Amino acid sequence: MENLDLVQIRSEFPILNRKVCDKPLVYLDSAATSFTPQYVVDEIARVYSTCKANVHRGVHTLSQEATDLQEATRESVREFINAKSIQEIIFTRGTTEAINLVASSYGSLLENGEEIIVTEMEHHANIVPWQLLGHNKRIILRVVPVKKDGTLDMESYRSLFNERTKLVAICHVSNVLGTVNPVKEMIAEAHQYNVPVLVDGAQAVSHHKIDVQDLDADFYAFSAHKMYGPTGIGVLYGKRHLLKLMPPYQGGGEMIGTVSFKKTTYAELPFKFEAGTPDFVGIAAFKKAIEFMQRYGVERIAEHEKELLNYATEQMNTIPGMRIFGTAPQKSGVISFLIGNEHHYDMGMLLDKLGIEVRTGHHCAQPLMQALKIDGTVRASFAIYNTKEDVDAFISALRRVAAMLG
Ligand code: PLP
Repeated sequence: MENLDLVQIRSEFPILNRKVCDKPLVYLDSAATSFTPQYVVDEIARVYSTCKANVHRGVHTLSQEATDLQEATRESVREFINAKSIQEIIFTRGTTEAINLVASSYGSLLENGEEIIVTEMEHHANIVPWQLLGHNKRIILRVVPVKKDGTLDMESYRSLFNERTKLVAICHVSNVLGTVNPVKEMIAEAHQYNVPVLVDGAQAVSHHKIDVQDLDADFYAFSAHKMYGPTGIGVLYGKRHLLKLMPPYQGGGEMIGTVSFKKTTYAELPFKFEAGTPDFVGIAAFKKAIEFMQRYGVERIAEHEKELLNYATEQMNTIPGMRIFGTAPQKSGVISFLIGNEHHYDMGMLLDKLGIEVRTGHHCAQPLMQALKIDGTVRASFAIYNTKEDVDAFISALRRVAAMLG
């Protein structure tokens, strides 16, 4: 595969030129949010200054233009994940809202005593919405444990199904361990019991080619801000027949057919789930972020990031006391680690002083931290614009920090 032109790519992200603590910036926190190419930022400004008129409500030219831009993005997203129809693409505020939508809407169809299977490596966004369901009825969460190497205990997964299982909710890629879960196999297993599967794709969609039909996923959730796009926009993909069964998530403008005080009918998909004015400017710019990824190709981006991940891991393993969490054979995007008993927060603060931006803490995965018997890690993550020089700077800073902390 042809190498990426990193000089050209980096020039598209002016933010990379800034300094941190007077040091050149090394950004290793793209798993939290990735940077945005200038031409995506420019598209936001262009829409604001040429056709910021509310979508789907007007016959006038500006409203039509804004609506066309929003709907063009919906088609781009459909193509990007190979969904069958644009009716299956719902815009949300992010992965979190997409999962909350399913929890509140599909969840309302569940009965007392029914069960949902999740895993120990889930982000809080794929745990708490299911727990909230339990405020009104008794919904039981069954949890697949994580093995020492950061892979899922698949035997345990298979053993959790019974006649009360109504949903599986799993992450495609762990935001802490980097483990790429065998979601296609897990979905096939669940479908043998007629159980639908929601995949939290927040950490997968910018590192893997996603084909929701090939995976046979029933729901797939992701956020634009982790894929070089604007903040505050996400996508819920859902199979049409399931979305049709589900009641609306929120009420308001746009999601209705007709309203009277006696009876209200709902709009067709996907609008039934899109109440109120969406961030249509951001959605328009999201199309440019998808084009950016398509220009370089998700497979090529993934290969580049994998090289960086392997290069960094090799060098990190030479640092005395290094403890890397997550050594699954199928791994992408992130490396979580500690050095000896040093606190992740101290390491993060010192790395920042050297211009290296990493994330520290529990990464919104406290149940996983409890399983690992730690309270947090340092996490470095990679994106298209990172280089081997970034990794070298990171490793050299890490050695200095380890020495400073003794
Ligand atoms: N799921 C995973 C695996 C994540 O890593 C994240 C964010 O880091 C989320 C869900 C939540 O995404 P958002 O905050 O964009 O809704």
